[in-house]
Amino acid sequence: MENQHYPFVNLPLPYAYNALEPFLDEKTMHLHHDRHLQTYIDNLNGILEKEPGLQTLSLEQLIQIADRLPENLGTSLRNNAGGVYNHRFFFNGMAPATEGKPSGELLARLQRRFGSWEDFREDFKKAALSVFGSGYAWLVDGPRGLRIVTTPNQNSPIAWSLRPILTIDVWEHAYYLKHYNLRADYIDDWFALVNWEQAQERAAH
Ligand code: MN
Repeated sequence: MENQHYPFVNLPLPYAYNALEPFLDEKTMHLHHDRHLQTYIDNLNGILEKEPGLQTLSLEQLIQIADRLPENLGTSLRNNAGGVYNHRFFFNGMAPATEGKPSGELLARLQRRFGSWEDFREDFKKAALSVFGSGYAWLVDGPRGLRIVTTPNQNSPIAWSLRPILTIDVWEHAYYLKHYNLRADYIDDWFALVNWEQAQERAAH
């Protein structure tokens, strides 16, 4: 991915703001990318401006060292480097109306791990619904194989050295304008937008 180091810039979405209609609306995409993600970018640059020793670290490295830094700095980095990483990952993981499902090796692995594609989908939806307040649900790969995990706030599973394959942002700002408080409907709509080619590439590394 481009722009992995300070100073961070808000990379454009890989599709038009209205490209995810009718599942995700143009106004939500504008606010989510241009305001919410922009704020994490600005905050992260502000933190790193005062920490020259951290300016050469990648987003992933910043997230991975957060636990070993003084508490205030570590928390700010977890929130803001996480906010940039997670949002880029989330936006790049969607594509216009794919309405598809995985195929090939990733489908076979999901079937082995979760029973069937439908079982995976149901488990993933349950996990995304279970996030209390704000956070994310993820499909990750790691030493124990494929797993579904959730993270609160802007925490990211890369802090635990797990490799993310898919994520859904379940902060209300991701869906409230269109889906109001109906997170389950938003999750169903998100499934129509999953970029499975991207997920397969991420899983194959
Ligand atoms: Mn968000």
